[in-house]
Amino acid sequence: MIRLESDTARKCLKVLKRLQEAGYEAFIVGGAVRDLLLDLPVSDFDIASSAHPNEVVNLFEKVIPTGVKHGTVTVIFEDESFEVTTFRSEKKYDDFRHPSEVTFLNRIDEDLARRDFTINSMALSSNGEIVDPYQGRDDLKSGIIRTVGHPDERFTEDPLRMLRALRFLSVFSFQFEEETFQAIKKNASLLSQIAVERVTAEFNKLLAGSGVEQAMQRILETGVYVYLPGLPQMKAYLEIGMKVSFLKTDEERWAWLAFEKEDPVFFLKKWRLSNDFIKKVQKILSVSRTVQMDGWNRDTVYAALPFERESERVLAVMNNRIPTYEHIDNIASALPITSSDMVAVTGEDLIAWTGQKPGPWVGECLKQIEQAILNEEITNEKSSIKRWLEHWQIQ
Ligand code: ATP
Ligand code: MG
Repeated sequence: MIRLESDTARKCLKVLKRLQEAGYEAFIVGGAVRDLLLDLPVSDFDIASSAHPNEVVNLFEKVIPTGVKHGTVTVIFEDESFEVTTFRSEKKYDDFRHPSEVTFLNRIDEDLARRDFTINSMALSSNGEIVDPYQGRDDLKSGIIRTVGHPDERFTEDPLRMLRALRFLSVFSFQFEEETFQAIKKNASLLSQIAVERVTAEFNKLLAGSGVEQAMQRILETGVYVYLPGLPQMKAYLEIGMKVSFLKTDEERWAWLAFEKEDPVFFLKKWRLSNDFIKKVQKILSVSRTVQMDGWNRDTVYAALPFERESERVLAVMNNRIPTYEHIDNIASALPITSSDMVAVTGEDLIAWTGQKPGPWVGECLKQIEQAILNEEITNEKSSIKRWLEHWQIQ
């Protein structure tokens, strides 16, 4: 029996009921039904309804017209948002992005037919009944990813589905149904026509799956890797079968992926990852590479903070060992400072004390002070730093 116990689930039921009381059909659909059946937390409750967007707008006080043309509006109900999409079919995927024609329908089973995989093509009514025309529940029980309808057709309509298939394989540690697998092999090259942002979003979820090792193997077997940014040159690296599922954050997963790249930033930019994100990955990478040669010591731990655990996990995966934190934590807790912000003097102090004009020397001097504090040559106090500086000036 499906449990709808969370606050959000109860609110979602109220939305369904309001639609039904107005004479429309309404169901929870897609990922939410799948995750409820798997007893997993639901990230978003999507609703499918026979009501058209303008009819939904009239039934609720707060509605955002997110994609009216495609039948979707977002209902804000008791401070939570629910996407309500009119039952629809999709035809002619001419730009590999959006269906060029959307037809509104009256029946849930017709709407379920346009969805990608059997496990994502179930609907749940407000009285707990499941509409499951493609035996998604059986596939969910047996752990199988199978397209709704002929896989060749479904992957040519929207090639992103191949990557979604690999994503679900990874996240749920499922297997491919044979024809679905063969169709990915056959149509992999179509992935090059998909916008990188969409590819990255799916691939990022794939990397975070508990079955990522298996998914990587399938990516190699199907030839999908040839059509993903920067991966064609990485066959040998990916074939090692490293235990990537030990990694815990997105940053460390991408650091692992970029580890052997001569120009990791160029590689990460190809995936259109944000500059902010790339900066964090770069830090993990540079620390991991140094530690790979020098091991963990005061300097490497200090340089790694606050990403010391992330870096250790990347190294552990690279070297096929279990990450250990005790040594790193001991070093970290004995450090006199944990970041340059903690240095007790500022550039302004240095200028005032020396009477010299501001210039590049200020940054250089602050760096030396930081290093001296770290080496415990001086304590992190203004007076001690000032004394050390006077000595430094004489030299
Ligand atoms: P997640 O847990 O990541 O949200 P999800 O299955 O809900 O997984 P969404 O991208 O939110 O994925 O899509 C919601 C539903 O819409 C899917 O469950 C599926 O039924 C349908 N869907 C999404 N993308 C496609 C697609 N490319 N082709 C066909 N159906 C799709
Ligand atoms: Mg979803």
